[in-house]
Amino acid sequence: MDLSYILNELGEDREQYFNAIAPPIVQTSNFKFNTVEDFRAALADEYKGNLYSRGFNPTIDILRKKLAALDGAEDALVFSSGIAAITVPVLALLKQGDEVVCVENPYSWTIKLFKDFLPKFGISTTFIDGTDLDQFKKAITNKTKLIYLESPNTFSFDVQDLAAVAALAKAKGILTMIDNSYCSPLYQQPIAYGIDLVAQSATKYLAGHSDVVAGVVTGKKELLEKIFNKEYLNIGAALAPQNAWLLLRGLRTLEIRLERISETADQVIAYLSKHPKIEQVLHPFNANNKDLALARKQMKKCGGLFSITLKNSTLEKIELFCNSLNHILMAVSWGGHESLVIPACAGISKADFDPQHKRHVLIRIYVGLENADYLIADLEQALGKL
Ligand SMILES: *Cc1c(COP(=O)(O)O)cnc(C)c1O
Repeated sequence: MDLSYILNELGEDREQYFNAIAPPIVQTSNFKFNTVEDFRAALADEYKGNLYSRGFNPTIDILRKKLAALDGAEDALVFSSGIAAITVPVLALLKQGDEVVCVENPYSWTIKLFKDFLPKFGISTTFIDGTDLDQFKKAITNKTKLIYLESPNTFSFDVQDLAAVAALAKAKGILTMIDNSYCSPLYQQPIAYGIDLVAQSATKYLAGHSDVVAGVVTGKKELLEKIFNKEYLNIGAALAPQNAWLLLRGLRTLEIRLERISETADQVIAYLSKHPKIEQVLHPFNANNKDLALARKQMKKCGGLFSITLKNSTLEKIELFCNSLNHILMAVSWGGHESLVIPACAGISKADFDPQHKRHVLIRIYVGLENADYLIADLEQALGKL
């Protein structure tokens, strides 16, 4: 399907709402029925239509159609956060005694889901180095029901071979799920590689303006219907119509935002790669990525997220560098208009910080919509203080 059609028209039935170009925010909790028979049909199968906005809603429907089409999926469910779009399907698909194989060091709350939350229900997880296909083969048992991927990882940028993992899982009747937030559907299409469920934090590129928290999962209708009818409605992490509308607005510019962000990030990376105070730049398309060929095969582009390390890193140096940035803001999240920095050391107590540990010294940078020169000047003055 044409990307311009998806972003501008798909799902928008304008004659239903006064031919308005912008879709309405259908700010209602419930929907009325004219006959008991219609009411009974709606109560019997909520997946079919509008009954109550904890399930579906017309503003949400427009968004679901666009997000499903972007992923090349049959359907999409949207959530009030990215982590709900991960947690709810995982809870729906697993039961006591099941096992999960998960890549090591996924998103922080994904780690907590598999390490702390699921064991309460008798579900255990094996964490593996996902860059090595053999590790998947070794970790799978006859109790494995789900393989969970995050490719690329959003701090270390490790990638997994999506087609190979999907084929391995299919042969053993295991479901696969990926967190595709880093690439967005524009730069990576996991369903085309055989992955069953694709989750994203819509807070990031899809919304794109740092003003809404949301999540999405896409996949086969049959699988999503199962998730919807049980855990989705029971946990109640639906997106509010107002936030769905903000997402629809964000999607209008998804393609041009990502193009601009990728171009600027390339310029910033080129500058940092040559800087004498920078030890290395980590990025899926870097020459020093051992899986560069795989990353180039699976992904169109990288977008705005990468990490750097300083030469002879110390806690003091990392702090001085980050504290000295004037325009690149220190904050969690990414994917919005504003450039951001997160030093990994901010998440580690000072006593535990080890300058020899390769994850501890990472400084993650997100390039937003500012000019490259403006960002490079900010980095230049902060590096100059070291
Ligand atoms: C932000 C993020 C999430 C969680 O999404 P929320 O919208 O914050 O709940 C999950 N995975 C990745 C890779 C993220 O960056």
